[in-house]
Amino acid sequence: MRKTIAIAVLLVSVYALTAQQEITDPLATEKWNPVPVVVTPGEGTQPPSDAIILLGKDNDLSMWESTKGGKVKWDFDNGTLTVKKNTGGIRTRNYFGDCQLHVEWRTPETVSGEGQGRGNSGIFLMERYEVQVLDSYHNRTYSNGQAASIYKQHIPLVNACRPPGVWQTYDIIWKAPSFHDDGSLKSPATITVLHNGVLVQNHVEIKGTTSFIGIHTYKHHPERLPIMLQDHGNPVSYRNIWIREL
Ligand code: MG
Repeated sequence: MRKTIAIAVLLVSVYALTAQQEITDPLATEKWNPVPVVVTPGEGTQPPSDAIILLGKDNDLSMWESTKGGKVKWDFDNGTLTVKKNTGGIRTRNYFGDCQLHVEWRTPETVSGEGQGRGNSGIFLMERYEVQVLDSYHNRTYSNGQAASIYKQHIPLVNACRPPGVWQTYDIIWKAPSFHDDGSLKSPATITVLHNGVLVQNHVEIKGTTSFIGIHTYKHHPERLPIMLQDHGNPVSYRNIWIREL
């Protein structure tokens, strides 16, 4: 028996070695297809040429609606959109699945409140998975609820927060969850987040719908859903939001 195994191992090794040696032409490992589509990168904070502009410099809110239905009731001035307390969140009219999302946000220069009550908003992928927006500049709260946390799921790797009143960026790579026909989870969502260019969430697994209380669980939903921005009662501002579908 042992002899048979030894011979088998030897044969496999010889075969592997032969297979390795067979490729002598460097051209054999070149791949010419598919040809990547040409995308012109944006200058500075400008979007790349293939991005969908969700919030640009012009005063155009046509991509958004209130989560309470109808028009957005937040303050909008010169491309800067600011949460208006108690008017509800806003969401994109278009639905998105896997994507690269760029968002610029700013917490109020005049600091008021503390912990979760200071500059709180949030970016909800698919209307249910929150990347926390918070003034986490010298403002302690639970770590899995500070800026750039996946709310109550993942603590950011570092705190890359800029001071209140200063514009900040999130660059998010989102892979949507998938579900079996019976509604059970096939594969969880994953997310990567850069906060002001610093990696803060490194391809982490989403555990389920964001919830304030209790354990996060998945509930079957469509492949594409809106992006939502949260009204948490603080006048957090947004500008220059664009998305690339993946
Ligand atoms: Mg929030």
